Amino acid sequence: MSDATILAGVLGLSSAIQLAREGHTVTVIARDLPGDFDIEYASPWAGSHFRPISANNASERFEQELMHETYDELKVTAERHPDSSVRFVRAVEYFDSPSPAYSDETLVKQNGYADWPDFRILDPSELPAGHDAIQLGVTYTGWVLNSPVYLAWLHRQAQGLGVRFIRARLAALEEAVFIHRESEGNHPRANIRAVINASGRGFQDPDSFPSRGQFILVSNPCSETISHHWADGSTTVIIPRPLGGGTVIGGTKEPNNWSHSISNAATETILTRAAKLCEQLVSGASNQDASGFDIKQVYIGRRPMRKGGLRLEEQTLEFQDTAEEDGLKTVSRSIPVVHCYGAGASGFKISWELGGGETSGASRGDDIV
Ligand SMILES: Cc1cc2nc3c(=O)[nH]c(=O)nc-3n(C[C@H](O)[C@H](O)[C@H](O)COP(=O)(O)OP(=O)(O)OC[C@H]3O[C@@H](n4cnc5c(N)ncnc54)[C@H](O)[C@@H]3O)c2cc1C
Repeated sequence: MSDATILAGVLGLSSAIQLAREGHTVTVIARDLPGDFDIEYASPWAGSHFRPISANNASERFEQELMHETYDELKVTAERHPDSSVRFVRAVEYFDSPSPAYSDETLVKQNGYADWPDFRILDPSELPAGHDAIQLGVTYTGWVLNSPVYLAWLHRQAQGLGVRFIRARLAALEEAVFIHRESEGNHPRANIRAVINASGRGFQDPDSFPSRGQFILVSNPCSETISHHWADGSTTVIIPRPLGGGTVIGGTKEPNNWSHSISNAATETILTRAAKLCEQLVSGASNQDASGFDIKQVYIGRRPMRKGGLRLEEQTLEFQDTAEEDGLKTVSRSIPVVHCYGAGASGFKISWELGGGETSGASRGDDIV
């Protein structure tokens, strides 16, 4: 009997590892698995880096807690498993026109930024030259990782713990129960005890929607993460990808935009802005084009957004099953389901949301499963 069935993004894989470490038998059923690239599979496209979020309401404060747990877990991962690609680096952030929420005092006292290691507000002399609009800069120690490499590492960790993987597209979450049972030869004891719904945007959840992100992967190096919040509301991010992955530069944030097409105008603006923020990027790299960049890929991913933020809650999943004694009839059954989706732009930052990593005690998360 399997205890749980999950899906295979960064949230599903991390949950599978946690449950397997606690001694549960876990089966992952997913349409996309590590190694795959699809616009609907968010995880391999992520930058992926740590950046604090503000903590002005209950939902944001909860995400802050999850971010702290994940930060601690990734610290241990970086030390013990260099092949995971997780590295801790200096991070800098610039704000063009900080609202009152980003004034010095609020940043330090309320906004959660000051909680992160090595946080300090930059002296005006440390701000990049030629950017008169920048009003405030901060620095802290953040982490970066190479998303495809990290997902493959999570996959290996899960397999090493005995997690089984089945590739299948579910028409409905309930179908997981039957796919699992069929994979066990329809044995009467092949029922699962619970389902974890880590499907990115959920199943027909009216509150879920995509946010299109156009990003650029270049071979040019940058040794720190740089984020610049422009007065027009856009953000430029420069994220080194460890283990020879180059640098990821972003990007756009386009809620409810389902387009697959690359915008050349966006690519040009993003690269022009990035070159001004990090001189190292365009000084001396080989194979550059006229803009100074060696572009490996321009791509689009969809962040799994949800009104109200991450859905992390337990419910009952009710479904209809064929009666064992009389196959002409159906019977109602139910099992617990833990919804775990809608991570938006923060999936990696909160990926150890069920706890249970190498830093935790064995019983953490038991009440959720
Ligand atoms: C361009 C970009 C940059 C980003 N940068 C960052 C960053 O720097 N830091 C950060 O923390 N986050 C970042 N994110 C966000 C992050 O990538 C997501 O929050 C995270 O990947 C979500 O993980 P997930 O496991 O919930 O979903 P996904 O990775 O989408 O995984 C969902 C899983 O469910 C499966 N699935 C879904 N529907 C079905 C179905 N019907 N049947 C079977 N299987 C199904 C999929 O196949 C997949 O296995 C970025 C995202 C993008 C697009």
